[in-house]
Amino acid sequence: MNRISHWIDGKVVAGTSGRSGAVWNPATGEQQATVDFASVEEVDAVVATAKAAFPGWRATNLSRRAEVMFQMRELIAANRKEIASLLSAEHGKVLSDALGEVARGLENVEFACGIPNLLKGGYSEQASSGVDVYSIKQPLGVVAGITPFNFPAMVPMWMFANAIACGNTFVLKPSEKDPSASMFLAELLKQAGLPDGVFNIVHGDKVAVDRLLDHPDIQAISFVGSTPIAKYIYETGTRNGKRVQALGGAKNHMLVLPDADLDMAADAAVSAAYGSAGERCMAISVVLAVDSVADALVERIQARVPDIKVGPASEPDNEMGPLITGEHRDKVAGYIGGAAEEGATVVIDGRDGVPEAGFFLKPSLIDHVKPGMKCYDDEIFGPVLSVTRVASYDEGLALINANQFGNGTAIFTRDGGAARQFEFDVQVGMVGVNVPIPVPVSYYSFGGWKASLFGDQHMYGPEGVNFYTRTKVVTKRWPDPRSSTVDLGFPQNR
Ligand code: NAD
Repeated sequence: MNRISHWIDGKVVAGTSGRSGAVWNPATGEQQATVDFASVEEVDAVVATAKAAFPGWRATNLSRRAEVMFQMRELIAANRKEIASLLSAEHGKVLSDALGEVARGLENVEFACGIPNLLKGGYSEQASSGVDVYSIKQPLGVVAGITPFNFPAMVPMWMFANAIACGNTFVLKPSEKDPSASMFLAELLKQAGLPDGVFNIVHGDKVAVDRLLDHPDIQAISFVGSTPIAKYIYETGTRNGKRVQALGGAKNHMLVLPDADLDMAADAAVSAAYGSAGERCMAISVVLAVDSVADALVERIQARVPDIKVGPASEPDNEMGPLITGEHRDKVAGYIGGAAEEGATVVIDGRDGVPEAGFFLKPSLIDHVKPGMKCYDDEIFGPVLSVTRVASYDEGLALINANQFGNGTAIFTRDGGAARQFEFDVQVGMVGVNVPIPVPVSYYSFGGWKASLFGDQHMYGPEGVNFYTRTKVVTKRWPDPRSSTVDLGFPQNR
């Protein structure tokens, strides 16, 4: 059986802990690999490698760092199909979706190609007589990234592109469920000319994560995953004096006003709810339909669902693959049964007609869902779309703002004034107007509000650069015999 090991100092290093995890093929339900799980001592060895690489990489000039990113950009573009097929094989997502993931990750490497410009500080000449003041952005040291199963290539790229370009060295702890794409990216970074030790991968579970959280040589932690773990990472990491950005789960609502283009709204709801089998933190999981259009909207969604082709990524026509594990599939299926018991209407039951093998579930549509029902309150993270009927814009907005999560949301309307009011009022970090999955482009930053993000800086883009650097301000003058005197007063300019 294929064995996936760590990536340390520019090469594959077999684990020595004796512990490992199973990597499944979600389309068949069979185990296809094992992944080594690191011990505390192995994590310490990786961090020591990254620490040793830091002084040299930090001193590497900006043109050279940018050149590595440009090379990486070319290599990812040239290998996009190989990366996508690794994603399909371990995550299960269909090829078109996997290619989309690679493309959105690549944007972050492209952004980091501009690092000489991004690290420019400010300069004030003559802040006082003969005194100039300027700010510089310096890297933090060794930083770590801990990533989820649902974007095994893109989320690492959200982190390492900026972190490395800023001059830090990096330790990645990928999801143990689909660890191969990150290993491929490590090979590409080496080919791009990144010095050994600057980018490292340690595979594992809580043991590895906990050691990263308390290791004195880790300066900052970027995390993406579920809310309970994000909170734990934030609290533990900050208690240990680290800078932490921890992105959590989501429950994204799409508010459809009566004047919306209902066909466009139905297309968007179906695409955003069932794409990637709903295993996206920006998936739409609740449609809030204003009463007067709710029946017409549900009808349109219902009509579209049977056309979705569900099956393994190996068949190019398929549009939706399996879920990540059998356990997760069963958990998601539990919400469908539970919804009926709690009084919701199961319009389409995705448990019907699924293949025997693999972790498949078909799309489900549940109407008349209300707050207080488990399928409304919890993040399901599967191909289940709920419809909640609301009397008005105000009622819809109030539900969104009352939700514990605040990752993404969307409004569908032709009314510019209503859309603008929604942008103004809504307590959510990423907002779409007639756009169901408003993942910001790489030159903005990604992050939710409330229980969807712990920490102050959003991920990638300008906030990513801020997260991976600290500012130093220099106040400087040069000897000038004309102005040199003894003055014990506090320095002032007037
Ligand atoms: P997860 O929280 O189970 O795992 C994320 C990472 O944390 C993995 O590397 C895992 O090994 C590690 N981990 C898991 N349990 C741990 C523990 N007890 N202690 C220490 N480390 C632990 O998340 P997942 O199932 O891989 O991913 C799905 C979740 O991620 C969903 O909740 C989804 O909404 C969220 N997500 C959020 C975003 C975002 O940008 N906000 C993006 C993608 C996914």
